[in-house]
Amino acid sequence: MEGIKILVVEDEKKIADTLKLGLTEQGFSTEVAYDGKIGHLLFQSEKYDLVILDINLPEMNGYELCKAIRRQDQHLPVILLTAMSSIENKIEGYDAGADDYIIKPFEFRELLLKIKVLLKRTAYHPEPVGNLLRASDLEMNLDTKEVFRAGRKINLTLKEFQVLEYLMRNKNRMVSRADLSLNVWEADFNSNTNVIDVYISYVRSKVDKDFDHRLIQTHIGMGYILKEKGT
Ligand code: CA
Repeated sequence: MEGIKILVVEDEKKIADTLKLGLTEQGFSTEVAYDGKIGHLLFQSEKYDLVILDINLPEMNGYELCKAIRRQDQHLPVILLTAMSSIENKIEGYDAGADDYIIKPFEFRELLLKIKVLLKRTAYHPEPVGNLLRASDLEMNLDTKEVFRAGRKINLTLKEFQVLEYLMRNKNRMVSRADLSLNVWEADFNSNTNVIDVYISYVRSKVDKDFDHRLIQTHIGMGYILKEKGT
């Protein structure tokens, strides 16, 4: 864990200081900001490997800060820390570009596990270069993060892009919600069922709208399949 820098943005001093202590004990170099604005300043002045972000923060809330981070860095792992566990809050967080969630009160070792998973993902899975995924007339450029259907550009949020990428990598094959949960959210299935359904519906409405052939199909009780025409 040597040399790995974590930024914690949390206004509850007790939680922030406990996190700093725990993370430091684990060998992470940890800095704390007690409000969103300071968090943003630190993010801009230092290179971090991961950010832990509370949602309800003074000056700039966690969603806003997460979006600001994403505008500058697409890949920096961000974990949201929140007492709000509703599906709407989760979706808002993922739309803001967060990679994962942890609900307060939480166990430190659960957070530690999520941190390790996210760090591993960034370290061992660098962005593929010059990669294009294709399914019928749908094309995904993994370098530019652009998606086109029949030459027409489709705008997706980061999470929608990841969902579609997983479906395209497994095209013409049934994908269960558990597969999606594990691979796109790296979270266990039960906590994420509704979130997955909502994301599939977003992606489908963007990808299949205005086209005769519906690429993304639902098989009740089994999952989803991105099916090419004529297969
Ligand atoms: Ca707070």
